[in-house]
Amino acid sequence: MIAFDFEYYKPTTIQEAVTLFYDLQANGKIPHYYAGGTEFISRARMHEIQVDAVIDLKGIPDCNEFQFNGNQLVIGSAVTLTTIADSNLFPLLSDVSRAIAHRTARNKITIGGNISGHLCYREALLPFLLADSEVVIAEKKGIRTTSIHKIYQNGVQLNDGEFLIQIITDGQFSNYPYWSSKKTKHSNVNYPIVSLASMKVDGKIRVALSGVCDFPFRTEQLELVLNDTSYSEQTRIQQVLNHLPGATHNDMHGSREYREFVLAQELAKLLQRSKGVS
Ligand SMILES: Cc1cc2nc3c(=O)[nH]c(=O)nc-3n(C[C@H](O)[C@H](O)[C@H](O)COP(=O)(O)OP(=O)(O)OC[C@H]3O[C@@H](n4cnc5c(N)ncnc54)[C@H](O)[C@@H]3O)c2cc1C
Repeated sequence: MIAFDFEYYKPTTIQEAVTLFYDLQANGKIPHYYAGGTEFISRARMHEIQVDAVIDLKGIPDCNEFQFNGNQLVIGSAVTLTTIADSNLFPLLSDVSRAIAHRTARNKITIGGNISGHLCYREALLPFLLADSEVVIAEKKGIRTTSIHKIYQNGVQLNDGEFLIQIITDGQFSNYPYWSSKKTKHSNVNYPIVSLASMKVDGKIRVALSGVCDFPFRTEQLELVLNDTSYSEQTRIQQVLNHLPGATHNDMHGSREYREFVLAQELAKLLQRSKGVS
């Protein structure tokens, strides 16, 4: 049960949603953008969040687009993980999405909710980091387009009142060789100890990780180390562990040492698999 009352709005345009947000704030209310609602409902039930109004983004057509526009794949923030998993428009993203939660939850969870949510995993972000995707953001003054790295690397850098409209990815990234793996503590339906997504672009391995640090990431330094064949595979893997961009995540799902052990194993598999793949 959610122990507080709140107003529910379902705008049909971007402008209406943004205006609503600031009008509600100006009237002393706490507004909250709402997509699949799975995280909002859990947090509200556990008294982790209290709001006066939710603004459901699913009624906005731009947030529901899912198609190629020329060579650009446009994914609206309100598209569900089930829709993405069942499509093959961006195969790596489909594989990563299919490994998140179970189908009933994926029917609700949206791509925008997954990558903008409160939890540190945000696994669906990984393919977009590899593809250097762009994000379209609704802001007070209108709309801006910027790099996914600026908004979603090292946490979510959205300002109060802003929301994600779409993610745009160059179609070439649907064709590169790719690999993903997700290791959990017990069943397949669980948060990752290590979730790894990788692509080979122009002979170089790109890799993005979730579950390892307190945020999903892809770093240039880590890829330089991984692609430096003048060192042995073991040395490269050790170097990656030495160059993680933050402290290794340590919680009841997996200790720091265990996550690093699993990461080393997954990187060894990645290096083996990527041999001879161009
Ligand atoms: C059973 C289950 C298993 C799960 N397993 C995993 C897992 O293995 N890996 C993983 O990564 N995640 C997992 N999750 C987490 C899930 O992906 C997130 O909780 C996600 O936020 C839920 O998306 P939603 O669309 O339901 O978001 P909502 O509950 O609607 O919103 C979540 C947050 O995102 C914000 N938000 C939503 N849409 C936007 C937008 N367009 N722009 C800006 N902010 C927005 C909301 O304001 C809110 O703060 C799991 C969730 C469940 C229920």
